[in-house]
Amino acid sequence: MPERLLVIGGDAAGMSAASQARRGRPDLEITVLERGNFASYSACGIPYYVGGVVEDADDLVARTPEHFRERGIDLRLRHEATEIDLDGSRVRVRDLDGGGERWEPYDQLMIATGAVPVRPSLPGADADGVYGVQVLDDGIAIRRAVEKDKPERAVVVGGGYIGLEMAEALVQRGLDVTLVDGAEQPMRTMDPDMGELIADAIRGIGVHLHLGEQVEGFDTDGGHVTAVRTGSRTLPADIVVLGLGVKPNTEIAEAAGIETGPTGGIVTDRRMRTRSENVWAAGDCVENRHLISGAPVAIALGTHANKQGRVAGTNIGGGYATFPGVVGTAVSKICHAEVARTGLSAREAAEAGFDALEAVVESTTRAGYHPGATSMHTKLLVERRTGRLLGAQIVGEENAAKRIDGLAIALWNGMTVEEMTGLDLGYAPPFSPVWDPVLIAARKAAALVEKDMRDSG
Ligand SMILES: Cc1cc2nc3c(=O)[nH]c(=O)nc-3n(C[C@H](O)[C@H](O)[C@H](O)COP(=O)(O)OP(=O)(O)OC[C@H]3O[C@@H](n4cnc5c(N)ncnc54)[C@H](O)[C@@H]3O)c2cc1C
Repeated sequence: MPERLLVIGGDAAGMSAASQARRGRPDLEITVLERGNFASYSACGIPYYVGGVVEDADDLVARTPEHFRERGIDLRLRHEATEIDLDGSRVRVRDLDGGGERWEPYDQLMIATGAVPVRPSLPGADADGVYGVQVLDDGIAIRRAVEKDKPERAVVVGGGYIGLEMAEALVQRGLDVTLVDGAEQPMRTMDPDMGELIADAIRGIGVHLHLGEQVEGFDTDGGHVTAVRTGSRTLPADIVVLGLGVKPNTEIAEAAGIETGPTGGIVTDRRMRTRSENVWAAGDCVENRHLISGAPVAIALGTHANKQGRVAGTNIGGGYATFPGVVGTAVSKICHAEVARTGLSAREAAEAGFDALEAVVESTTRAGYHPGATSMHTKLLVERRTGRLLGAQIVGEENAAKRIDGLAIALWNGMTVEEMTGLDLGYAPPFSPVWDPVLIAARKAAALVEKDMRDSG
């Protein structure tokens, strides 16, 4: 009997692992269980599909089932893993198209079950017309509702990046969109001053924004949502999208006794091995180490899921690979507004015990005289005395956000802002001013560090 790898979850982490394991071990029997209708799709593309920027859901599918079949990977759509039996090295599987349940044996098990959207336990939260957004099937359901039911008023609950991208999509569809969040700012992963800039940008595209308002329930009529109730008002809604964040989908792993950490994610080592024998895990369902704070974090991003899946697959396939951890780099776009962050926010830096200085600069994305130059804000968080970069945030317009990559590299390599002032970054008027915003911010931060040293003697 050939050795068998069983993968639970057929998206970024699961299919990367399966493909990579296949490269290393042509002899391995590989079966992937995916409970949805799609595998190897871009969940990140869902807002653009809902908004109509991407016409066809199939365009979000990176690799077809035939692609995997040709490589000897047995991909079973509409098959849900319902139980893991570690002692028996087997997984209970339900065929969602009426084919019953049975146990499937494994030699190696890969858990790539992703995350699940947080649903508030409030009256009406499960009504028709209230959508979470996680898998492609969710995106298809929302777009179908938008096109078929022709809703006029949408309420997005939660102002994280998924909520904001969905708000943009619904604006593009011509809906009257309201966004409500219990916090005083959208995107709590950013500092409040940068959050204010984001709030202005959201209002600028016509979204009604209600901050600092907790949702208390959902009104329904005949089982369909009709309004969202907050402590202060009732917001009529034909459709509601939940953007309250996600949590690692670890229900069956936990039930089997596979160790999870304080964030709720599955604990793995750097090779993506869990603490249970022959069981691997990757993607949104796992916990990561933050390379700046050292703390365990659950940051659900496709960029990590693909890399971790590849690492797990390399190791399962007999090679050696490690995933070092994350620095929390993320970019997003809400209509013309671009938002990016890396490393620690001011709150996270304080929680991690860092004494941080902050430098914020406003500059332009291109040379000021070049058509299309727009304003952008860059914020750096720097460790007092050492001048080491701890985090960075950007809010701007076209060509602003991806500057975060240079900052993420500096952060990853432990650079000080003084060292960063000398970085050899590219310049031409259509791309940046002669002093790139990153260099201007580094200069300002380095001056702050120096002044602080002088002042404190
Ligand atoms: C709207 C949206 C926008 C996003 N935008 C970005 C972005 O711009 N950049 C970025 O880096 N990340 C983004 N992400 C996050 C990114 O999509 C996820 O981090 C990534 O998809 C995680 O991959 P994964 O394989 O771990 O989990 P998932 O993609 O969630 O895949 C898990 C799969 O497992 C299946 N599954 C779960 N349980 C079972 C079971 N018991 N049996 C069988 N199958 C099961 C699910 O159906 C699912 O298909 C976005 C996510 C969303 C929802």
